[in-house]
Amino acid sequence: ATEDIKILLLENVNQTGRDILAAQGYQVEFLKTSLPEDQLIEKIRDVHVIGIRSKTKLTARVLKEAKNLIVIGCFCIGTNQVDLKFAADNGIAVFNSPFSNSRSVAELVIAEIVVLARQLGDRSNEMHNGTWNKVSNKCWEVRGKTLGIIGYGHIGSQLSVLAEAMGMNVIYYDVVNLMAMGTARQVPTLEDLLREADFVTLHVPELPETQNMMGPKQFDQMKEGSYLINASRGSVVDIPALIEASRAGKIAGAALDVYPNEPSGNGDYFHNDLNTWANDLRTLKNIILTPHIGGSTEEAQSAIGIEVGQALVKYVNEGSTLGAVNLPEVNLRSLTIDEPDHARVIYIHQNVPGVLRKVNEILGDHNVDKQMTDSRDDVAYLMADISNVDTQTIKDLYAKLESLSSRIMTRILY
Ligand code: NAD
Repeated sequence: ATEDIKILLLENVNQTGRDILAAQGYQVEFLKTSLPEDQLIEKIRDVHVIGIRSKTKLTARVLKEAKNLIVIGCFCIGTNQVDLKFAADNGIAVFNSPFSNSRSVAELVIAEIVVLARQLGDRSNEMHNGTWNKVSNKCWEVRGKTLGIIGYGHIGSQLSVLAEAMGMNVIYYDVVNLMAMGTARQVPTLEDLLREADFVTLHVPELPETQNMMGPKQFDQMKEGSYLINASRGSVVDIPALIEASRAGKIAGAALDVYPNEPSGNGDYFHNDLNTWANDLRTLKNIILTPHIGGSTEEAQSAIGIEVGQALVKYVNEGSTLGAVNLPEVNLRSLTIDEPDHARVIYIHQNVPGVLRKVNEILGDHNVDKQMTDSRDDVAYLMADISNVDTQTIKDLYAKLESLSSRIMTRILY
């Protein structure tokens, strides 16, 4: 029953997420901070659901103690703080919110295009230092200029629409063939994009192939006096090459929101102990440096609360793993478990030959209305809606499924 579900929310998870969970009638304990590991282990022992942000480390050591845990909600983008493999091997689903801040990032980039074109960062710094320096040389309108978007996914495509509204021409490069928004145009190679764009902006994921995607050769291919914006991941731009291109006057400016080796907390100093080039970067003209704030808005935070909150409810109440980062994504559409003599069996098991046959032998005595199964690496996830069952048969079913050696976790919703 929903009122038996215990939830622990740490790190001041957004109100929107808390409201969604509380409205279900679950027992929700809410803490503003993360917990030291020993207290975390104490608390995690009896909860079914835990909601965290980036500071709570859910290592194998911690998760080993979490005997009742069925699902983890990361109310953020990253999931590095969770041992995803250990969680999957123990049937614990993990959800996050990868796309709730796409619009916020796109808006930041729009701002940066204008800021760079007008050298606003430098003028503002000068005024803060008491200097009046009115300049129009090499300051531009953005209308009619070409924006080159590298990676036309959630953020890149949003940005495309916004940039056209300001009168920019938009071209994009992506490894996938994608439908253009508005009058944007896909170009076949990265080099084509770099040779044509006045502003180049990166929106690709962190992958081995995107590591130092912008290096000396690519800066060389850029137009004289063009600009570079990186709000994707720090590994994508070779920063010494950027410093070189800026000093040589090849690029007229850049905006960076992400870096290799980012400081771990606010107030930490950004200098050469982190990266050998940090001090050089800080001396350059018309270079906007921001501390990974692309997605940091109130709207994105509440969207994260809603997205993760809803995913947790769907998982707890219906067993849907759509959007899970560590389990196969399985969902059954119609939900008949509220009807008498219906039940939904959720069976998480090791992905070894012969399991399905055994499971189906057990389920075979009942009406199986629908069944769905999928695997991911070593773990498989099965959902089956069955009818013609009463409380005793559900108990028997549960015991039989639990006794199979390949079993990771059994849940029966009814
Ligand atoms: P997405 O997955 O929706 O889109 C990425 C696109 O890049 C896809 O269309 C993909 O096909 C393309 N791509 C992949 N490899 C490529 C390659 N080698 N060359 C060209 N294109 C390639 O991702 P998204 O949500 O738009 O996010 C983009 C980036 O922004 C990610 O790195 C993400 O981590 C980062 N991000 C940063 C912030 C921030 O605060 N600065 C916030 C959110 C996301």
